[in-house]
Amino acid sequence: MQITTWGIVIREKQLDDDRILTILTKEYGVLTAYARGAKKLRGRLLSSTELLCYSRFVLFKNRDRYTVDQAESDTSFFGIRQDVEKLSLAVYLAQLCIHLAPSEEPAQEYLRLMLNTLYLLEKDRRSQKFIKPVFELRILTMAGYMPDLVACRECGDYENEPMRFLPQSGELVCSHCSTKPEDGIPILLEPGILAAMRHIIYSEFDKLFSFTLTEAGLEKLGAVAEKYLRVQLDMPLPALDFYHSLFSYT
Ligand SMILES: [Zn+2]
Repeated sequence: MQITTWGIVIREKQLDDDRILTILTKEYGVLTAYARGAKKLRGRLLSSTELLCYSRFVLFKNRDRYTVDQAESDTSFFGIRQDVEKLSLAVYLAQLCIHLAPSEEPAQEYLRLMLNTLYLLEKDRRSQKFIKPVFELRILTMAGYMPDLVACRECGDYENEPMRFLPQSGELVCSHCSTKPEDGIPILLEPGILAAMRHIIYSEFDKLFSFTLTEAGLEKLGAVAEKYLRVQLDMPLPALDFYHSLFSYT
């Protein structure tokens, strides 16, 4: 059976002249496809099957195996692949997609999030400090790890500041209410950080990237988002560790 779908290459492994691709597709979610001859110097699939390429794929499906018949590149995100920091961040975000986006079912929202994020990253429309926590919190929300940031879980107050965030349960507790030992260590959220987190998880997609925060605020938001992600996913994140290692000697 032949299928046609738009997708981004989110992982690429080389095998002699061939490539094994993991593609985040619009209609079929995350799938693995074999691209024969894709590493050949003059191969017709060479540029359209590179990591991060957004292409229109014609795939042949045989049982649960896919091979790439054709691929036409729409956007290569060349500017990301030329920059080690941007590339490392993109690889980490791609790995979150591999882990969190569905397989064999539509994943249009995930594809839209990844495409928009890569565009902002390539063109420097938003800083990496901005992009990373927005992507993390939004993809967690989409994948069933949505925190409950409406109000204090104990008293229901929604503006009794400062609020505290519980990464284990994704809940808020206000400064007047108490936490339980199993909640772990609460994180104090300044009003601006809480507002940004609420925006990221509750806003419509078109407004997702439309908010501002100070540099210091973005640092704090980044720390909270990453803590929440690590606690919730509870898995090794080598691409994230590598991304951080780029900044540890500067
Ligand atoms: Zn309370």
